[in-house]
Amino acid sequence: MYLVGAGPGDIGLITVRGMELVRTADVIVYDQLANSELLGHARPDAKLIDVGKQGGHHKVRQEGINRIIVEEAQAGRTVVRLKGGDPFMFGRGGEEAEELRKAGIAVHVVPGVTSAIAAPAMAGIPVTHRDHAPMVTFVTGHERDDRPDERIDWGVLARTGGTIVILMGMAHLAQNMRRLMEGGMLPSTPVAVVHRGSTPAQRAVLSTLDRVAEECERQRVGSPAVVVVGGVASLREVLGDLL
Ligand code: SAH
Repeated sequence: MYLVGAGPGDIGLITVRGMELVRTADVIVYDQLANSELLGHARPDAKLIDVGKQGGHHKVRQEGINRIIVEEAQAGRTVVRLKGGDPFMFGRGGEEAEELRKAGIAVHVVPGVTSAIAAPAMAGIPVTHRDHAPMVTFVTGHERDDRPDERIDWGVLARTGGTIVILMGMAHLAQNMRRLMEGGMLPSTPVAVVHRGSTPAQRAVLSTLDRVAEECERQRVGSPAVVVVGGVASLREVLGDLL
């Protein structure tokens, strides 16, 4: 079984290896972030299984996804588990791989182009830059619902001196921006939000730490989006969309 990164949306951004596996797989297990055009490249007799989340509701729960993959693989079929972006970047790919390994299944991973880097890039924002950011931190906007204890220290994040890239960051945007300001980041720090990066629906909002949540609400820019905090965000003014 192959855990395959589908890239951030544009069909051209899946890897050559990923596309080869989509073309030859017996079974493709996918969710909504993977570009559905990709499925048009599957074998006509391939079994396509949609396990996507819809509006926060899991169509098939994680245990169900794992069970489907295990059953299909144990039946001797070549299974491609397509995941948006890179399978191991906040996509539970790691958890799926663990389960499959436990079930004794041969697991391979085909890394993908993550939206964490690609969405900013397509909107004219390099996540590192010698003049602005010598480092970048990838962080989730909210931790898992079954964990009451927060492990993310936003005060520490406020002081890294590098770019902060937040995925799944829209639901708690205002709160997290406030935490960064409380941690000492200037309210005037540039922040960009890139919605559906790399797709024809790409939209970006360039604002500041103290205003971005309000601005996104005003412009109705929501999930899925990548939030980029730091000086690099202002490069969008120079570079613009790079689609
Ligand atoms: N494994 C994926 C991320 C899964 S978490 C990856 O590597 O890209 C889902 C989050 O990814 C979304 O909440 C959003 O923050 C981000 N995301 C995925 N695709 C995106 C896109 N095309 N544009 C902007 N953000 C995207």
